[in-house]
Amino acid sequence: MKLLLHVCCAPCAIHPFAELRGREYKEITGFFYNPNIHPYTEFINRRKSLEEYSEKNKFPVVFHKYDMENYFRHVAGHEGPGTRCPRCWRMRLEETASFGAQKDYDAFTTTLLVSPYQDQEMIRKIGLELSKKYRIDFFYRDLRDGFRKAQDAARKDNLYRQKYCGCVYSEKERYDKPAK
Ligand code: SF4
Repeated sequence: MKLLLHVCCAPCAIHPFAELRGREYKEITGFFYNPNIHPYTEFINRRKSLEEYSEKNKFPVVFHKYDMENYFRHVAGHEGPGTRCPRCWRMRLEETASFGAQKDYDAFTTTLLVSPYQDQEMIRKIGLELSKKYRIDFFYRDLRDGFRKAQDAARKDNLYRQKYCGCVYSEKERYDKPAK
């Protein structure tokens, strides 16, 4: 059984890769598709860190295109986090499902399921909808229990750890706090 794992960043890949490899799935391939990461230099930092992790751990990864314009087309007019984030998750998962179906993977999933900062239930719903649309299974499991351990492992391995979710909006939300 072959799984295509959408990877948002190297630290979030650690837990699902360790948990699923050789168990539920004989083969796991990462799929790095994140045009939501801005600016471009931040994207390069996250991609480099996944390249290092992939090489060190013999984890094959497809580094997909950086079509930043596609991200902005998806969220234009929906910039509030309540509507922006579901559009961002859908865009990334849709590309993963479509790629996985074309390349004959048995299932797809995402490292977003590791993060306590993302809406688990909404991601599950989107994954199941895309599973029907592209006729490829969506592997769902709440993987948040491994988040802290993976962050510690990333720190130990000197993997780049981001300070904000990804897009310019999240960067502003992270730093634009009223002075105390
Ligand atoms: S905050 Fe994160 S999930 Fe939401 S739109 Fe920005 S990058 Fe995407």
